[in-house]
Amino acid sequence: MPALIIGSGYGGAVAALRLTQAGIDTHIVEMGQSWTTPGSDGKIFCNMLNPDGRSFWLRTQTDQPVGYFLGSPANKSISKYTGALDSESFAATRVYQGRGVGGGSLVNGGMAVTPKRAYFEEVLPSVNSNEMYSTYFPRANTGLGVNNIDQAWFETTDCYQYARVSRKRANDAGFATTFVPNVYDFDYMKQEAANQVPRSALASEVIYGNNYGKKSLDKTYLAAAAATGKLTISALHTVTSVASASGGGYTVEMVQIDTSGNTVTQKTVTADRVFFAAGSVGTSKLLVSMRAQGKLSNLPSAVGTGWGNNGNVMVARAGLDLTGALQSGMPAMGIDNWADTNGPVFAEIAPFPAGTETWINLYLAITKNPNRAAFSFNSTTGKVDLSWKASQTQPSIDAAKRVFDAINSKAGTVYRSDLFGVNKTWGDDFVYHPLGGCVLNQATDNYGRLPGYDGLYVVDGSLIPGSIGVNPFVTITALAERNMEKIIATDLQ
Ligand code: FAD
Repeated sequence: MPALIIGSGYGGAVAALRLTQAGIDTHIVEMGQSWTTPGSDGKIFCNMLNPDGRSFWLRTQTDQPVGYFLGSPANKSISKYTGALDSESFAATRVYQGRGVGGGSLVNGGMAVTPKRAYFEEVLPSVNSNEMYSTYFPRANTGLGVNNIDQAWFETTDCYQYARVSRKRANDAGFATTFVPNVYDFDYMKQEAANQVPRSALASEVIYGNNYGKKSLDKTYLAAAAATGKLTISALHTVTSVASASGGGYTVEMVQIDTSGNTVTQKTVTADRVFFAAGSVGTSKLLVSMRAQGKLSNLPSAVGTGWGNNGNVMVARAGLDLTGALQSGMPAMGIDNWADTNGPVFAEIAPFPAGTETWINLYLAITKNPNRAAFSFNSTTGKVDLSWKASQTQPSIDAAKRVFDAINSKAGTVYRSDLFGVNKTWGDDFVYHPLGGCVLNQATDNYGRLPGYDGLYVVDGSLIPGSIGVNPFVTITALAERNMEKIIATDLQ
């Protein structure tokens, strides 16, 4: 086959659209399922209040990011199923990732943030930022279906009470706040609030998928790619090996599983070109394993390095502000303290959609944490380890603490210490924004080509060196647009 793409998240979806539009038959191999069939309740995805097997990837118990309430474990037993959200454990961190056709777009908060230009230039100096900000970021925003909230509606609707009170407390303490675009259709959300359509964002649906309203990749890039008639998707297929084929091209081995995770069959195909789009963790794991096992032994030593967690740390405040029983699951506002050179912070004002008043103000802080980690193949276990240590999260906590200490002090509020463990204030042992592991212009050339292997490309979040200062999917998409345009023009004509 001419082109095989491993994974169907942002990088994979952009690659699929641009390859198929160029007339190239393209095959996506995706380990998760195609989320098109409703369950017995008539819904494709389950909500956060009543998680079932559809919530998590092959687990018998949920592993919620906010795993405790009032100090007691809040996780529930579920049936083992190929659910939408994976929490993948390494020694000192858990990495949350979407599983299914659409990758992370199925489970994320939809926050569509273009990074600050100066920081983008600092992080990716080899990329022409004029081109990014004039061409590829706008192209990505259009392709993703990004829209903005009606600010007058935001000021009055019950479902953003939580964001308004967090904004007030931040502003009172001298911090700026900003509206954040989203790929959730805000017009649909307005109709939800008016009880005119079935509820999704207003029905505690987010991290296990949204049944309505969200423009996930299966509705945007992947739908457009499918419309060319040149796209094939093999869902519930996990790529396990990529090696140079003797007659040219690459031999790709994969395992097909059923929805309980059992192996159905193993398959081997040959592809002229392979695009790695399995996400920062998935791509890094595959490439590091293939190098160690001698299948792609000439990959550069930089493959597997430069991984970071985008400075992620979660925290919650407790006070007397009513945050609302009805909360939109789609964040629409952030606290922007990135200009603070003592410790930049961009904090998403996150919902806590419990369906009842909780007085909880929740935040996902993105900080400028300089620490990085590496993936390595463990020949004893046959698995890939990630060297991230718990202590490496400390700079993120220090930066976030400066902001939230100041907010608490001004508001007379305190941290909640019952949500991430017993007497544990910081949600510092998990990540929503894994980045890096196959960094642009280090592990690849300046367009994602893997050196020494004609026809192997990396197109996903592993290209971004560990930090981008905002929620990352717009950057991943725009970089994929830039790189695919170059690759199609120069390698595929
Ligand atoms: P992914 O989207 O992770 O796609 C990789 C795909 O490859 C997956 O579908 C996976 O199943 C598949 N795959 C992996 N390994 C294999 C294999 N061996 N064989 C076959 N298939 C494989 N970002 C934002 O910008 N805004 C947000 O509001 C936001 N909220 C988030 C909330 C949550 C709960 C989570 C988990 C993430 C959130 N993110 C958010 C992060 C965002 O979703 C990711 O940065 C983004 O999805 C990464 O894109 P990607 O293309 O690198 O990989």
